[in-house]
Amino acid sequence: MQDELIMGCHLSSSKGYEAMARTAESIKANTFAFFTRNPRGGAAKAIDPEDIARFEIACEQIGMGPIVAHGSYTINPCSAIESVREFALQALTDDLARMEFTPGQLFNMHPGSHTGQGVEAGIEQIAETLNQVITPEQTTTVLLETMSGKGSEVGGTFEQLAAIRERIDHPEKVGVCLDTCHVWDAGYDIVNDLDGVLDEFDRVIGLEHLRALHINDSLNDCGAHKDRHARIGEGKIGADALVAVVDHPRLRGLPCILETPNELPGYAKEIAFFRKNYR
Ligand SMILES: [Zn+2]
Repeated sequence: MQDELIMGCHLSSSKGYEAMARTAESIKANTFAFFTRNPRGGAAKAIDPEDIARFEIACEQIGMGPIVAHGSYTINPCSAIESVREFALQALTDDLARMEFTPGQLFNMHPGSHTGQGVEAGIEQIAETLNQVITPEQTTTVLLETMSGKGSEVGGTFEQLAAIRERIDHPEKVGVCLDTCHVWDAGYDIVNDLDGVLDEFDRVIGLEHLRALHINDSLNDCGAHKDRHARIGEGKIGADALVAVVDHPRLRGLPCILETPNELPGYAKEIAFFRKNYR
C-alpha cells in the first residue's frame, strides 16, 4: 500500500461519509478532503454512526489512505476580535470531537490571521488555542497548513509554523500540510529548487512532521503572496514540477489532496495524470 500513490480531492460532505468514500472510488481516489462544517458558516451536521460503519467498510474495500479533513475558513484563533477567537475555540473543540468518529485521521487547518496584532501575538494565540483543544488521548493529528502569507496570515514561513509547534504541549499531535500553491506564492521556489526547499523544511520544521500535501498549481508568480489555485498545468508552477513533488523520494506515501478549480471529471483526469507519472 505504501508504494501506491495516495491521492484524492476535496469532496462535498453533504451526503455523509460513505457517499464521500464512494465518490472518491468513482474517480480512482484513495483519499479525500472535506469540510467538517460549512466553510463559511458555523453549524456542523450531526454524525450518523451507521454512516460511519458503512464508511469504514467502504474504506477497507477501496484501500483508502489517511483522509484529510479541513477546518472551516471562519476558524481564526488569532483574530483581534475576541468573539472570533471564542468561535475558533468552540469550533475546533467540536471538530476534534467529531474527528474521533473516524479514528486516526488528519485534520488540516489554516493557522490563522493576526489581523494587525503582529505575527508574534498570532503565534502565541494559535498555540494557546491548540493547547486548549488538543488532548493526549485523541487519535487525530492536527495539521497546520503552509500559507501564502497574504494579508496578515500566520504560517507563510516554515519558521512561523515551527514556532507554533514549539509552543504545543502535545507536539506529537501536530504536523504540517504543505500546499504547493501556497509555498510557491510565499516565495519557496519548488520549480527550480525543490530539494533546497525540502532541505529547508527539514532544517526548520523536520520532514518527519510533514504529513500531507495539497497539490495545486498557482496563477501567480513565486513570492506573490496571493494564493490563487490553478488546475494542474494551467499555472506558473506547471505539471512537471508538481509531478516532481508528488513523486519525490522524500515525500512518497504522503496523502496528496487536489484543491484545483475542478468538478469531478476534472479531478479524475488529474488523478489519472499523477498515477501515470508515479514510478
Ligand atoms: Zn490548501
